[in-house]
Amino acid sequence: MDNVLKVESLSVYYENNQAIKNISFCAEEGKLIGIVGPNGAGKSTLIKAILGLEKAQGNVTILGKKVTNVRKQISYVPQRNQIDWDFPVLVEDVVMMGRFTHIPWYKKADKKDREIVAESLDKVGMVEFAKRQIGELSGGQQQRVFIARALAQHADLFFLDEPFVGIDITSEEIIINLLREIRNMGKTVFVVHHDLSKVEQYFDELLLINKELIEYGKVNEVYQPDILQKTYKGRITLFGSNENMMVVSE
Ligand code: ADP
Ligand code: MG
Repeated sequence: MDNVLKVESLSVYYENNQAIKNISFCAEEGKLIGIVGPNGAGKSTLIKAILGLEKAQGNVTILGKKVTNVRKQISYVPQRNQIDWDFPVLVEDVVMMGRFTHIPWYKKADKKDREIVAESLDKVGMVEFAKRQIGELSGGQQQRVFIARALAQHADLFFLDEPFVGIDITSEEIIINLLREIRNMGKTVFVVHHDLSKVEQYFDELLLINKELIEYGKVNEVYQPDILQKTYKGRITLFGSNENMMVVSE
């Protein structure tokens, strides 16, 4: 299988604070990958550095190219608290933003773009909300609209930062099923995720970080008590044997 993402010695400093240290890994296509680690571990920073949104040292190669040359193929759903939900914009316009990478600046969205927007809203069960203001929706519905925007972009690589935080269970199920569908199409999906109880169920692979890369591999290989303890630096409690391990985080 081909590597879609190659990260080499990636480091980010915020003034004197080193948020991520020397992170290296390669990811294959067609995987659903959880990025896991405690609060402040640098998960959001890692995504932003990969996407070139944060100044970083090191090298990132996406689909064999520099990120600036493959932006169209990358979809990013930021952490909820980084989005201005009061911004006056209609749901259908948020999803149309996913098409903008494909529409030349001198053209308007055409029928095909509008069809893709409608299809994407349908996939997340939000068609009847198309003309609503984004700020009027519940957290779960807002997150579904952002997933629709990512779908409309027809990207090859997806990065979602804590998409399940503050949303209802129906929205969570719709979103995880869509992410699986995207993975089954051979695309690669990275999801920053906090809730350790779901990671075995949700992901193919895990990238565990705490500033440094602790471990990266198949879920059944790295979802292990010693590795989790190392990642969370003893801030979690593990119960039971490995087969039915229960985890209470932070
Ligand atoms: P996570 O997403 O794992 O919770 P972050 O990547 O948001 O972690 O943050 C990693 C560390 O970098 C934290 O100590 C955080 O306070 C710090 N940090 C994040 N963003 C900034 C910023 N823009 N300026 C200064 N420090 C930051
Ligand atoms: Mg974060």
